[in-house]
Amino acid sequence: MSPHADLARLLVSVSHRLYERGFVTANDGNVSALLPNGNILATPTSMNKGSVGESDLVELAPDGALISSGRGASSEIGMHLFIYRERADVQAVVHAHPTYATGFAAARIGLTEPVFPEVVVGLGRIPLASYATPSTHEVAESIAPFVKEANAIMLANHGVVTYGKSLDDAYYKMEKVEHAAHMLFVARMLGGERVLSGGEVGKLLSTFKK
Ligand SMILES: [Zn+2]
Repeated sequence: MSPHADLARLLVSVSHRLYERGFVTANDGNVSALLPNGNILATPTSMNKGSVGESDLVELAPDGALISSGRGASSEIGMHLFIYRERADVQAVVHAHPTYATGFAAARIGLTEPVFPEVVVGLGRIPLASYATPSTHEVAESIAPFVKEANAIMLANHGVVTYGKSLDDAYYKMEKVEHAAHMLFVARMLGGERVLSGGEVGKLLSTFKK
């Protein structure tokens, strides 16, 4: 299979997983990945992520110009393009509205405290970007303060964006953010989480660096 076809197949698989896991409803959410030629392959606008097929995907130039014919690009493509511009290491971007993480984002609570060791090691702090009108350039501006350090950002009253070195990596980060938010919600039902101490975090990081 060509690199393009391989990437298209993976992108469709991630889109379907987002819908099946309930991370998006109706036509919400969007997924993109960098092609070997430097262009971006992305889910189209106004389409359910559970029914996206490879022929529905759109190709864009790095400046956002639509290269493929047929469907239009996702309304949040500006946020994706911004992340690729700011992070040369990023190969894929996933945006979704998973229930628990978006609930925290609506309550304006970022997941920045060290609570779960696997989140501290695998994701680090998950900051909360200030509210921005969806589909506008405000969204890119809202994540600008965090995009270089974070690999997952909560969008106030909106959802979550994750990115990484591959489509699977970006998708698994979305799963981890939602799982962390769900576990934190349960901990708060049980009297509240106990945050790891500085010493515990230091030991954790030195253990996993080895
Ligand atoms: Zn959204």
